[in-house]
Amino acid sequence: MQDQETGGAIPLKRVMLKISGEALMGPQGFGLHPPTVERIAKEVKSVHDTGVEICMVIGGGNIFRGLQGSAQGMERTTADYMGMLATVMNALAMQGALEAQGIHTRVISAIPMDQVCEPYIRRRAVRHLEKKRVVIFAAGTGNPYFTTDTAATLRASEMSCGAIFKGTKVDGVYDKDPAQHDDAVRYDTITYDEVLQKHLKVMDASAIALARENGLPIIVFSLDAEGGFRSILDGSGTCTRVEG
Ligand code: UDP
Repeated sequence: MQDQETGGAIPLKRVMLKISGEALMGPQGFGLHPPTVERIAKEVKSVHDTGVEICMVIGGGNIFRGLQGSAQGMERTTADYMGMLATVMNALAMQGALEAQGIHTRVISAIPMDQVCEPYIRRRAVRHLEKKRVVIFAAGTGNPYFTTDTAATLRASEMSCGAIFKGTKVDGVYDKDPAQHDDAVRYDTITYDEVLQKHLKVMDASAIALARENGLPIIVFSLDAEGGFRSILDGSGTCTRVEG
């Protein structure tokens, strides 16, 4: 991420990395693909090695989405709780992969499940980060009718993160789908209001609004490119910065 004035990297002490559940399914189209989970864990490690404190939120869409369940006749709130439980599975998989890389990690759930992971206590989560543990926030916000984008924005605000890094398949926000349009143009920066007005698929509207209220920049970058996460922090990578 380039600093406008210095042209160099912007030092961020603490960041939130948000990835969708689908990022973990690799080529198989469903569930967890261990080599892909390992690859992403290595991306996280390469940033962690620089001393940046890392929070993570992982979605659950590779396993279950509430809207899918309710479209199939399930009660929406039940389906949403199933979606939140799916995020816990993903968080545990990522914890395993990170610990295999030698990184101390805590999974903290918005829905208490003491035998599996820690409950969410803000001050305790901050302490883990200060001790350089990667903290994975699981079970979304703990409430139905929300998404993990909103959970990531909420926790990033509570943890005083300098930015939310949204890892996707593309290297930023485009004016139209770059997979379908050769002439799609990537924004270097864009405001929260423009994202909302143009209905650009960055994060859902409540997450964007919450980020705007808290002045939290959202950095959209490609998690598919090797070294992608670190390259954004050291200023050499391509991304879109949502702010203003
Ligand atoms: N979810 C929820 N409340 C939250 C976060 C998530 O009810 O605070 C449920 C919701 O059903 C959602 C599912 O968990 O569909 C998985 O999260 P999400 O769709 O955000 O995952 P992603 O698309 O990022 O993989």
